Amino acid sequence: MHTDLTIRLQNRRNNGLYRRRLTLESSQGVHVSIAGRKYISFCSNDYLGLASHPELIEAVCEGATRYGVGSAASHLILGHHAAHHRLEEALASFTGFPRALLFSSGYMANIGIITALVGHGDAVFTDKLNHASLNDAALLSRAKLIRYPHLNMAVLEQRLASSQAKRKLIITDSVFSMDGDIAPVVELLTLCEKYDGLLLLDDAHGFGVLGQQGRGIVSHFNISSPRIIYMATLGKAAGVFGAFVAGQEELIETLIQYARSYIYTTATPPLLSHTVLKSLALIQQEEWRRKKLIQLIMKLKRDLKSFRWKLLLSYTPIQPVIIGESSKALRISNTLQEQGILIPAIRPPTVPQGTARLRISLSASHNEEDIKKLVNVLCKLQ
Ligand SMILES: *Cc1c(COP(=O)(O)O)cnc(C)c1O
Repeated sequence: MHTDLTIRLQNRRNNGLYRRRLTLESSQGVHVSIAGRKYISFCSNDYLGLASHPELIEAVCEGATRYGVGSAASHLILGHHAAHHRLEEALASFTGFPRALLFSSGYMANIGIITALVGHGDAVFTDKLNHASLNDAALLSRAKLIRYPHLNMAVLEQRLASSQAKRKLIITDSVFSMDGDIAPVVELLTLCEKYDGLLLLDDAHGFGVLGQQGRGIVSHFNISSPRIIYMATLGKAAGVFGAFVAGQEELIETLIQYARSYIYTTATPPLLSHTVLKSLALIQQEEWRRKKLIQLIMKLKRDLKSFRWKLLLSYTPIQPVIIGESSKALRISNTLQEQGILIPAIRPPTVPQGTARLRISLSASHNEEDIKKLVNVLCKLQ
């Protein structure tokens, strides 16, 4: 038993795939300290810089005073609080769907949605670069898992056309978490209509960032359809914690009845919902955060134009630099860290073999000086 674990761990080390955690001593942010040293971080999903916003901190304190700390029960027992309910209504209205349902995390939301909607005899069509939670959920559902090459609508259509499955569910990241590119949602929806399927959009990286006032991918493409199941997380651009699903009345009722990761878990503390309500208001009001983010993205792309390693074609805050070999990506990430810059080396199995990368994440809390420093250090490495 133990030798087996030793061998597995040694394999990870040998292949440059070993994971280590850094221990953050300051609050999270773009300027952080670890082991007494200061760094500029490009690791965070706090795209709008809301996670340490004074008004959100105040909302947490107010929420704790009003509602206490724990929710003390699952939603179906007595854990469903007025703060959760208000937030669900606000999220439905913000994203433009009839109803919304809160989950404890994005991972749990995907597990709950997919296992509640499909099973034996059904098929799930999934982009090869989808987030692990979507694929894990599809496997757990016992539906047939049909993967298609990244963004390849022609192959997807062939597979839909030849499928005999009772129900067809297409699932996709809206913004791909390790590549930063955007799914062709209009085409996906057309295919759903043609082949009578449902479309699950995981907007973890689009919510708050894309669309009018940060309403997400559905607003970005200006689409609407009862076939869309919209899911987004609240721990990224929204700066807090949790996730939600939005869609038709019957979909939400089905999830309340059948989504096991909704039913068999303690409701998140209502103080978090209270805080997300405040965060929603900031997302809508503080347009300057999205404007600044776009300026920083454009600056980084401009300044790295002649850089030896290629930036992927992405217009979102996720800007990956493909390195290839895992150990090399890790070495560069370590060198950057020595120079005071934190960028994670993303390696298999998170990304396909041979595509290890530095994943630069930008935030509205960065300034032009941070980008300048990053570009300088990167360019010295080539
Ligand atoms: C982060 C992420 C999730 C998981 O969300 P959590 O709330 O962190 O569990 C799901 N899908 C995608 C695409 C993500 O990037």
